Amino acid sequence: MFDFGHETTKDDSPNLRRRTFLASVAAALGGLALWEWRKPTILRAAAAPGESPEVTVVLFSDTGERLQQAHIAKVVKSEEEWRKQLSGNAFDITRHADTEIAFSGKYWNLHEKGIYRCICCDSALFDSATKFESGTGWPSFWQPIAKENVTEIRDTTFGIERTAVACTECDAHLGHVFDDGPQPTGLRYCMNSASLRFAKQV
Ligand SMILES: [Zn+2]
Repeated sequence: MFDFGHETTKDDSPNLRRRTFLASVAAALGGLALWEWRKPTILRAAAAPGESPEVTVVLFSDTGERLQQAHIAKVVKSEEEWRKQLSGNAFDITRHADTEIAFSGKYWNLHEKGIYRCICCDSALFDSATKFESGTGWPSFWQPIAKENVTEIRDTTFGIERTAVACTECDAHLGHVFDDGPQPTGLRYCMNSASLRFAKQV
């Protein structure tokens, strides 16, 4: 999108022209610009389609068995590809850091044994053995299935300092981590059900 954030020089005429142009663009795209402004500002450089940096993740079977560490190409898709693959809700949450309404998701009250995978790329993220009842209405875990499989990012959306949690393999936004969880870690990974796919242990 348009970058309105780097006009710091004085009003000489080329800059003035550029500003006038940008002001017209902003006026023309008023609704869109407002949407951009309201978008969560999670500080992370997303890879562009066509670039696939390598990442290290740990692979797990659906029974929760740790298989091996793997160096794989990050899953990178265009907005259109993600939109086709995901429900509207899952798209907004995973690709644009939205948050589902508390008690509305399908996993906050699930107590079955199994593992939770990424809705976007199927990477293993959490084990039901670490899930706990947080009372928040979002599925909550005290640790990820493997530290490599999630990436923590500083998030200053709405002027609040938080730590967002993303899938290492595909950059899907999963939720946030807080330090008011139970032992043994004291952490609370507060996730969106819509970012996850539960694989039941059979
Ligand atoms: Zn993923």
